[in-house]
Amino acid sequence: MLAPRLIMMIGLSFDVEPDFPPYYNTNRGLEGLKKVCEILLKHKADATFFICADFLEKNPGLLDYVKKFEIACHGFRHIDLRKLGDMQLEGEILEAVEIFEEFGLTPRGFRAPYAGVDSRVLTVLSKYFEYDSSLLFYQKKPEDADIKEVPIYTGGKTFGINPKLFNRTLDFPIENKVYFIHPWEYGGLDFKLIESKRKKMKLLGYSQENYLKNLETILKEKPVRLSEMI
Ligand SMILES: [Zn+2]
Repeated sequence: MLAPRLIMMIGLSFDVEPDFPPYYNTNRGLEGLKKVCEILLKHKADATFFICADFLEKNPGLLDYVKKFEIACHGFRHIDLRKLGDMQLEGEILEAVEIFEEFGLTPRGFRAPYAGVDSRVLTVLSKYFEYDSSLLFYQKKPEDADIKEVPIYTGGKTFGINPKLFNRTLDFPIENKVYFIHPWEYGGLDFKLIESKRKKMKLLGYSQENYLKNLETILKEKPVRLSEMI
């Protein structure tokens, strides 16, 4: 008898932030954001956009690109929240929430910059958000954190690898697969600068052309926004 086929759900998420943190602090990746949003609309695909609040404040026009999708929070500044003291941590999150409110937005989800959370950060987040998506799928959520978790599967630079290798990520036997993407890897930046920091990725066929091919592979799987995976 055949084993029952695993029902798989694919979540697609984008981290909207300054270019290639911490190496750069420019906003040229907005071009990549526009591009990925157009591709999503063309494929009638859904996704969640985790946006840094200070990036949003400086580039409010980006809301025109992402308005058809779920808007979530990627912190205020793109900094490691685990390194902040209690007061600073609370202030950083509150600042982000207030900026979203100014735009009439109440994000349900949060992803920490550098996906850096611990039980203290998650406890603060639980006051403001319904779910977090910062842990990796193999990480255990701290028991005292009273917030739903939609863990990350893979993404980022993985979207640049050889498509044959990338396709294998779909075969891994976990039910829910959350992919994440950085729009700045899709345009605006001189890609040579990114490649120079990722020399080892060459062994996996890493190139900018692969990003579009691998995104299209995921779009064929009918991805959902992360709030549908809670
Ligand atoms: Zn980020």
